[in-house]
Amino acid sequence: MKKTSIAIIGGGAAGFFAALNCAILAKEKNKQVSITIYEQAKNVLQKVRISGGGRCNVTHACWTPKELVKFYPRGSKELLGPFHTFCCGDTVAWFGERGVELKIEGDGRMFPKSDSSQTIIDCLLKTTNDFGIKVLTKHKLTHLSQSDNGKWIIELNKEKKLEFDKVMIASGSSKVMWDKLSTLGLEIVRPVPSLFTFNIKNSLLNQLMGLSLQDVHIKILGTKLNSNGPLLITHWGLSGPAVLKLSAWGARKLNELQYDFQIQINFTGASKHEEVKKQLLAIRNNQKVMNIAQFNIPKRLWKYLVTEADIPPERTWNEFGKKQAGSLATIITQSTYNVKGKSTFKEEFVTAGGIDLKEIDFKKFESKKFPGLFFAGEVLNIDAITGGFNFQAAWTGGYIVGRNMVDY
Ligand SMILES: Cc1cc2nc3c(=O)[nH]c(=O)nc-3n(C[C@H](O)[C@H](O)[C@H](O)COP(=O)(O)OP(=O)(O)OC[C@H]3O[C@@H](n4cnc5c(N)ncnc54)[C@H](O)[C@@H]3O)c2cc1C
Repeated sequence: MKKTSIAIIGGGAAGFFAALNCAILAKEKNKQVSITIYEQAKNVLQKVRISGGGRCNVTHACWTPKELVKFYPRGSKELLGPFHTFCCGDTVAWFGERGVELKIEGDGRMFPKSDSSQTIIDCLLKTTNDFGIKVLTKHKLTHLSQSDNGKWIIELNKEKKLEFDKVMIASGSSKVMWDKLSTLGLEIVRPVPSLFTFNIKNSLLNQLMGLSLQDVHIKILGTKLNSNGPLLITHWGLSGPAVLKLSAWGARKLNELQYDFQIQINFTGASKHEEVKKQLLAIRNNQKVMNIAQFNIPKRLWKYLVTEADIPPERTWNEFGKKQAGSLATIITQSTYNVKGKSTFKEEFVTAGGIDLKEIDFKKFESKKFPGLFFAGEVLNIDAITGGFNFQAAWTGGYIVGRNMVDY
C-alpha cells in the first residue's frame, strides 16, 4: 500500500493537533501515512508551556459555533463552518478521551484540572509517541517549493532537501515564514500586535494600581471602538478584559494611530450622565461626599474621582449642589485619558495578520492556489480575544488539516 508522506512545519498547538488527528484517521481507515513534525527550536510546544500563566487556557465553555465566532475579530466568518466540525466541546472530549480533564472557571475559561500546561504537553507528546509520529527539533524550514509532479520539496537548515506528498505550515507568527510564503505567491496581511494593555501616564490613576472594577464601559474617541467588561488599573495604565477586547477589535486601527489616542471611561458601566447626576443629588446626609462611595465604585477610586471633580474634601452630601453633581457625574461617566503606547499582556498575546483568508479553502484548511499545502493556527489571519479562543482556532484548524491530509 502506498504511504502518504507528510511534513508538518512547526511544533506548536496547530502542528501537533494536525499530526495527531491525521494519524488517528489513517489508523481508522487503515491507510499508511508517514508524518514528521519539523520544529526550528530546541523544544516543541513552547507556547503551550507558557500559556495562560503556565496553566494553559485550552479552550472556552462556549458550545455553539454561532456564539463562538463572536470572539474572533479576524476569522469569524471563515471559522463558522470549521467550528461545526470541531468546536470547544470536541476539544474537551478529545483531551478527556486521553485522560486530561478540563475544568471551567467562572468566566468560562477552561484549564486542565491539574492547573498545569505540562499536562497538555504530556498528553500531546505521549499520543505522538503512541502513533509513531517523528518529531525533529532544531530543524528549520529554509525553503519550500513544488516540483512539476505536484510533490513538495522542503529544505531544512539550508542543507537537507526532502520530498513530501503533503505539507502543512503551522509556523505561528513568523515574519520569516510569511515572507517566504509571500514569495511563493500567497497574499499576506501585514501583521500587527493584538491583546495588549494601554499605557497611561497619570500619577493619580497610577497610584490606584491593583484596583479592579467588575464592569466599565470604555470607548476610543474618534473611532467606533468601544467595549464593556472588567477593568484593572496597573502601575503603567489600564488592563483587564475591557481593555484587551479593545486591543483585539482595534488591533489595526490602534496600530494606524501608533498607539496614541484618547479613551473615555464610564466607571458605572451603563448609567448615563443625567441618571448619575440625579442619583447623586438625591443623597442627603451629613457625611462627607469623599467618604461614601456610590455605584459600587471601590473606595480608593471614588476618592480619586471626587478629587478629580474638584469637590472639596470636607463637603458633605447636604452641601452638595447641582454644579458639583454635574462635574462629579462627568468624571464618573466620561473620564478621558491619553493613551501613549502599549504593553504586552503577559498571560496571552497574539498577532493579527498573516495569510489572507481568501487564499484558504476552509473545508480543508488547504491553499486554493497550491493543493497539498495546508495551514492552521496563528500563521493565518485569524485571532481572538483572550479566553482560550486562540488555542481553539489552532485545535479546530489542526483537526481539519489532519483529517484532510489522509487520502481515503
Ligand atoms: C504568553 C502567551 C500566552 C498565551 N496563552 C494562551 C492561552 O492561555 N490560551 C489561548 O487560547 N491562547 C494563548 N496564547 C496564544 C496561543 O499560544 C497561540 O494562539 C497558539 O500557540 C498558536 O499556535 P500555533 O501552533 O499556530 O503557533 P505556535 O504555538 O507559535 O507554534 C509555531 C511553531 O512553529 C515553529 N516555527 C516557526 N517557523 C519555523 C520554521 N521555519 N521551521 C520550523 N519550525 C518553525 C515555532 O518555533 C513554533 O514552535 C498565548 C500566547 C502567548 C504568547
